[in-house]
Amino acid sequence: MQRDIIVNASNKDKKSTDISPRDKLRALRDKYIRSLPHTLGRIEARWSRLLENKTDRDVADSLYGMLHTLAGSAPSFGFGEVGRAAKNAEILVRDILDDNSPFDPEVWERIDAGLEALMSASIASKCEELARQRFEESVPVAPFNSEQKRLVFIVEDDVCLLQNLGLQIGCFGYEVRTFAGLEELAKNVGETPPAAIIMDLMFPEGRAAGAEAIASIQKDAMRHIPVIFISQLDDFSARLASVRAGGDAYLTKPLRICALIEKLDQLTGDRKDDPYRILIVDDDQDLSGFYALTLEQYGMNTRVVNDPMHIVEHLVEFHPELILMDMYMEGCHGDELAKIIRQMEAYVSIPIVYLSSETRKERQLSALRIGADDFLTKPIKPEHLISSVTIRAERMRIIRSFMDKDSLTGLLNHSKTKEQLDLAVLRARRNHGRFCLAMVDIDNFKSINDSYGHLAGDQVIVMLSRLLQQRLRKSDVIGRYGGEEFAIILLDTEPEQACRVMDEIRENFGRIRHESDDGGFAVTFSCGIAHYPDFTDSTSLNKEADRLLYEAKRSGRNGVFFSSAPEKGVK
Ligand code: GH3
Ligand code: MG
Ligand code: MG
Repeated sequence: MQRDIIVNASNKDKKSTDISPRDKLRALRDKYIRSLPHTLGRIEARWSRLLENKTDRDVADSLYGMLHTLAGSAPSFGFGEVGRAAKNAEILVRDILDDNSPFDPEVWERIDAGLEALMSASIASKCEELARQRFEESVPVAPFNSEQKRLVFIVEDDVCLLQNLGLQIGCFGYEVRTFAGLEELAKNVGETPPAAIIMDLMFPEGRAAGAEAIASIQKDAMRHIPVIFISQLDDFSARLASVRAGGDAYLTKPLRICALIEKLDQLTGDRKDDPYRILIVDDDQDLSGFYALTLEQYGMNTRVVNDPMHIVEHLVEFHPELILMDMYMEGCHGDELAKIIRQMEAYVSIPIVYLSSETRKERQLSALRIGADDFLTKPIKPEHLISSVTIRAERMRIIRSFMDKDSLTGLLNHSKTKEQLDLAVLRARRNHGRFCLAMVDIDNFKSINDSYGHLAGDQVIVMLSRLLQQRLRKSDVIGRYGGEEFAIILLDTEPEQACRVMDEIRENFGRIRHESDDGGFAVTFSCGIAHYPDFTDSTSLNKEADRLLYEAKRSGRNGVFFSSAPEKGVK
């Protein structure tokens, strides 16, 4: 089946390893624990050298750097005392460097004592075990299972409506199981808990029998199962019964499938969005790895840059949505790096968040002045890091979406779609790759507007955009090219595959029954597909897809056309 091919293709992008981010985090922690004695040994050696020559600034500098790094990283791996002791020693060494009290013997003694405290903090016999334990407690467990199947139960005693709903919801990529009565439901929920239940309220057993059934299911369930009640009743007591039973939404009949799907998507937490892309710039390999895995556990996509001098190539390749940046790094400091980034036109608005052990407010403020967005201090609690990053990345996406997206459908707008087509051509040229451009146009849309109103027409556009989003891969580009015209770039796809996918969407779309005040109706679309490298630039790809689209229209509409192998769907 075509969808399998497509699904497999997208799975290829995923990392093939079975190790969970949490296990990777544990491995990283163990590595850190193993390397800690070595780190402390180096600190001691530096200190001895500095005592031999108290005016050697290079040695003082590197001692300061080591303590600073340790202060930032140790608490993240469970060594809170070590981190605090390192921080104290770091502040004392900084005094020497700042020339505040270079020859005050008392300061040197205090550093000595501080380092002594650091060593004993880390030698304490139970230290490692404690660190492991704290680490387990501090790293939050990922909140969702992204592989979860979106199984939906529909419970409705009107068999005709039940079948119809099952068919329509199935068109949107949900796996549907239908129940005409309440008897079988509880047993099935117990065996395979669904992602959501769509539940009629009234059954022969009683006016609110659906709510009662749900209440008892929720009581026994391991976790809350999202429930959408559907009912003819629109009175307060019916709604109250639904809320009391633990219902999440209440929709009245006749149902608008569009609203139902929207609720389902929302409640099943289908993460349609791509993961946020976060670039982590930090010369501490262990700590940056820790941050990366922490964010990945939360479904983000990260890339770590340990050498700040290479940031530009990673910006271009990875196209991050937020940069998490260390302040003091070898070769180039964070504030210098932020300046460089801000001077590049493409990255003027990218959020930059410092993550540093720098605790002095005036330094933090001056770093922020350059145009960074926030200053987080190490050590940072994983949940604090996750929320800071999520909030900023989210806001950035919203701002960007105003510029790039069509307001009715949320799909890419015309100019952004064109930009993506140009990019796809460039990429395919470079990698000797292939892709398909599909142009879709709704059939006889003018008459739909005329017969059922502009609002119903808009709903049809939204519905098709939803179907496209659900049925295509995340890597595919979907744009609203014009009023009722869509452009789709199917990356790494053979034309035969593209034809089959688009034809399947065409069939599903044709099965959807759209509702309006003037009654229900069905709509179809036509589609033309051009293939790179049969056509090698965006203009000719566009022209070819358009030509085939109009051929499909001329041949009676409701079909998908590709030049070498026209596939005409069943009307
Ligand atoms: P064909 O099958 O040949 O494509 O016929 P058609 O009627 O779909 O094509 P035509 O291009 O003649 O009409 C398109 C109509 O789509 C005209 C326009 O009013 C309507 N339209 C464009 N954008 C929107 C929109 O955002 N909302 C609604 N409701 N209608 C729109
Ligand atoms: Mg049209
Ligand atoms: Mg048109």
